[in-house]
Amino acid sequence: MDSYRMWIGGEWLEAESRKTYPVFNPTTGEEIARLAMGGLPEVERAVQAAHRAFAGWSRAPQAERSGALNRIAALMRENVDELARIETMEHGMPIEAAKKVITFASHAMEFNAAAARSLRGEVIHAFPNTVTYLEREPVGVCALITPWNVPLFMICAKVSLALATGNTCVVKPPSINSLIAVRFAEILEKAVLPPGVVNVLTGPGGSVGDALASHPLVNLVGMTGSSETGKRIIASSSRSIKRLVLELGGKNPVILLEDADLDHAAEVLAHHQFFNSGMTCGSPGRYYVHPAVHDAFVEKLVARARKVVVGDPADPRTTMGPVVSAEHRDKVEAYIASGIEQGAKLVCGGERPTAPPLDRGWFVMPTVFIGVTQDMTIAREEIFGPVACVMKYSPSDDVVALANDNVYGLCASVWTKNLAKGLKYGYELRVGSFWVNQHNHLAPEIPWGGIKDSGIGKEASIEGLKEFTQMKLMSYELRG
Ligand code: NAD
Repeated sequence: MDSYRMWIGGEWLEAESRKTYPVFNPTTGEEIARLAMGGLPEVERAVQAAHRAFAGWSRAPQAERSGALNRIAALMRENVDELARIETMEHGMPIEAAKKVITFASHAMEFNAAAARSLRGEVIHAFPNTVTYLEREPVGVCALITPWNVPLFMICAKVSLALATGNTCVVKPPSINSLIAVRFAEILEKAVLPPGVVNVLTGPGGSVGDALASHPLVNLVGMTGSSETGKRIIASSSRSIKRLVLELGGKNPVILLEDADLDHAAEVLAHHQFFNSGMTCGSPGRYYVHPAVHDAFVEKLVARARKVVVGDPADPRTTMGPVVSAEHRDKVEAYIASGIEQGAKLVCGGERPTAPPLDRGWFVMPTVFIGVTQDMTIAREEIFGPVACVMKYSPSDDVVALANDNVYGLCASVWTKNLAKGLKYGYELRVGSFWVNQHNHLAPEIPWGGIKDSGIGKEASIEGLKEFTQMKLMSYELRG
C-alpha cells in the first residue's frame, strides 16, 4: 500500500506521531492508499512556514505570482488524465466529468492569475494638498479548508485566489479523499514556488482543521463545507479576529411556472441533480412546480433520470458513479427512508444496484420523489445525493415565501418564458445566486457564494479575489 507524506515548508514530511489513515475507492470499497495523519505539531510547522514565506511572497511582483499560477495550471493540464484517474478512484467521479472539472479548475487558476493583475487601489479626494488613497494589500496567512465533493477544484479555486493576491496558505483537504491534494502538492513542487508559500496538511477536520482555524497567526479562513462545520469555525476562529470566507450548504429552490419550457428545464435540472451523484452544493434541492405543468414535468424528469448511466466511474460511458463513502450512502438512504415514511411518493430509484460489480460499491440510484410537502425532512435538509424532491404548489400559495422558508440561501432558479416575471422572483428570493431558465451556470468570471446559513463572502471572479485582500488607508501631505 502506497503511503504519502505532507508538503510543509517546501519539504515532504511524515507526521511526528507516525500515524497514517486510509483512503478508500468508493466503487469497490477497497483501501487504496494511506496518508500521513497530521496533528498539532504539523499545524504549527505549516502555519509558521506560511508566516515566514509571507514577507517575500506578498512583496513579489504581480507578474511573478501570476506566472507561478500559470505554471501550476499548465502542469495540471499536462497531467489531466492522471489527475482525473485519481479523482475517479478516490471520489468516484466519472472519468470524463473528472477531466472536465480539472480543466475547469486550471481555467479558474488562469483567470485568477490574470485578473489579479488588474486589481487596483483607490484615490480619495478629501483635502487639498493631501493625497489620500486606499492601498489593496494581501490579508496574510490563509487556512484553506476544503470539502470532499469536488476535491481538486476546491483546492485550486482557493489556492489561486490566495496566491494571486499575495497571501500564503496552508491547505487542509478533507480526510475522506485527500490523495488528490498530495498529488497537487507534487505539482506545486514541480512549479517551484518559494518554500512555505503553499503547505498541504492532511488529517482530521476536528483536530487539524480546528487548530488551523483557531491559530493566532492565521489571518483568513477560507472554508467550503457543511454549515455545521462553518459554525464551528466561526466559534473557534474567534479566539483572534480573522477574515472568514465560508461557502456552506444549500437546499436550493427551483420554481417552475405554468409557462416553463419543460424540455429545457428537465434537461438542465436533471443534469445538475445527478451530476457528481448529487453531491454538489448548487444542485436543485426542492422543486416547486405549478399544477398545470406538474405531471408533464415529472414525466420528463423521470425519463431523464432513467437515462443516467450508473456504473464504474472509470468507464467513459458512465455518467454517474457511487457516492463518496459508505457513511454518506447510509445518510442518503436514511433521507430516502424518511421521505417514504413521511408520505412522499417514490417514482424512480431509491434503491442500490444489486448486480455485480456495482453491489460492492457505495451506489445510490437516481431517485425522484413527488408529493413532497414543505414540512418533510427531505424538503428541509440538504441530502447531498442523487435525490429530486418535487412539490406541487397551489396557485394560491405564496411560492416565494415557501422557497424562502429555509435556513439556507445558496442559489435558486425560476423557469418561465416571461423574463420580467422571472426576474421579479429573483429580487424576492433570499439567495446568493439566481437564474432564470438556467441553474448553477458558473464560470471563473462569475462570483459564487450564499447568504444565511449558506455562507459568508464570495469565491471566484474579481469579487473572490477582493475577499483575499484588505484595504489600507494611506495619506501624505504635499509641502513646498
Ligand atoms: P464538512 O463540513 O464535513 O468538511 C469540510 C472541511 O472542513 C473538511 O476538510 C473537514 O475536514 C473540515 N472540518 C471538519 N470539522 C472541522 C472543524 N471543527 N474545524 C475546521 N475544519 C473542520 O463538509 P463536507 O462533508 O466535506 O462537504 C459537504 C458540504 O459542503 C455540503 O454541506 C455542501 O453543501 C458543502 N459545499 C458547499 C459549497 C459552496 O460553495 N457553498 C461547495 C461544495 C460543498
